[in-house]
Amino acid sequence: MATLPDKRTDFIEWYLAVVETAELSDKRYPVKGMNIWTPYGFRARRNLDRILIREIEATGSEAVEFPALIPQTEFAKEKEHIQGFDAQVYWVTKGGSTDLDVPLVLRPTSETAMYPVFAVWVRSHRDLPMNLYQIVNTFRYETKTTRPFIRVREIHFFEEHTCQVDEDAATARVRSNLDAFGRMAAAFGLPYVAVRRPEWDKFAGAYYSIALDIPVGAARTLQIGSVHHYRENFSRPYEIRYEAADGGSRYAHQTTFGLSERLLGAVLAVHGDAKGAVFPREVAPYEVVVVPILSATSGDAPMRAATEIVERLTRQGLRVHLDDRDDRPGAKYYYWETRGVPLRLDVGARESSARTASATDRLGTRRTVSLDALETEVEGALTAFDQALLAKARHEFAASFELASTLDQLKESQHVRQLAWCGSEACGHAIEHAIDGSLLGVPEGPPPLDAPLPAECIVCGQRPGVRWALAARPL
Ligand code: ZN
Repeated sequence: MATLPDKRTDFIEWYLAVVETAELSDKRYPVKGMNIWTPYGFRARRNLDRILIREIEATGSEAVEFPALIPQTEFAKEKEHIQGFDAQVYWVTKGGSTDLDVPLVLRPTSETAMYPVFAVWVRSHRDLPMNLYQIVNTFRYETKTTRPFIRVREIHFFEEHTCQVDEDAATARVRSNLDAFGRMAAAFGLPYVAVRRPEWDKFAGAYYSIALDIPVGAARTLQIGSVHHYRENFSRPYEIRYEAADGGSRYAHQTTFGLSERLLGAVLAVHGDAKGAVFPREVAPYEVVVVPILSATSGDAPMRAATEIVERLTRQGLRVHLDDRDDRPGAKYYYWETRGVPLRLDVGARESSARTASATDRLGTRRTVSLDALETEVEGALTAFDQALLAKARHEFAASFELASTLDQLKESQHVRQLAWCGSEACGHAIEHAIDGSLLGVPEGPPPLDAPLPAECIVCGQRPGVRWALAARPL
């Protein structure tokens, strides 16, 4: 049994080995950065989508699906946006052997696909708010090294686009999205920090961007999503106007909320360990795997008990798998451990005659469950597992940050830094230079570390406008 690289010292190698061993993605497709969703990976993705759909629809958003191809003429309407995406775009220029009159962009994101149509759909203040989302694949020509789920060229993408009556309503939608993400992150067991990106790092065309960052060891962070306020930056070039209650014509204020398969990368990065993947139950392809242990003398009682367990738990609504392959129990344990299944139930001759099963969760906690109370005891074991996993993740999250009070501390820290910043771009770049990384920006709400805010900026020593900021080396 191969051992994985060390997560602390060789994080990326460890991550790639976890994805590979768990068979979540196959990168042998002959286009770099366009990977195959395997059966096991697809199950995880479907669970991820289910959580996103549940939480966004609870806030009154409706699903749509727009075409993947965008005419160049529409794509070019918002200047900053096209500058931000130009280098990453795939073009479709021919239909058969004929050059297209208007070349088409394979969507890198869908503002420019949706907004010409929003201009037609939005007529009156009665049409607002309009909150629409889609889960589709987007395409970006990545030039950096690609990694499964974390940086790919064909991205499984969630994007909400909304039109609101005014800036305040759009601000309220941003808050609502952040709250919805809080509930999503709870299902993934992922502690995170919401950070307002500095001006020079906001989304192309946005008024402001709030990113959702997850510490993934050492000084690294992974941005797993973002919420943007557009004000009228897109509604003006795309003419998304409505007739207000007073009869006047106004531009809609817009917001977007984007998430992607990176969430799955974050789940693996945060929860995975020396044995491989670890899934919280809501994301786990299988919540429970049942392993019958057969021997020369066991007869078929263990298999009968295992089948009964699978039937009853399936009826209960759990995702359960019976591993009845002809293989040694030890090999099966290893197999499901690397794949991160929350709970394994083993049934041998002893267990089947006692009407019990031996339960082992992915963090190593063992207990005996009685078949008489199977449903409640399995539910209890899964809940306890999820709580322990979240407690472990929270502990590691808290240990990921360090206060930096001086430039020397800022340079030397091996953690995500929390520091005092005056808000100026010059000081921001000085911080980025000092750590050879990024100023993530200013946390929304309380900072990760509870400490009194210093009076002066860590770089320039100025007092006005000083606030907490975070700096790290994004993956
Ligand atoms: Zn400063």
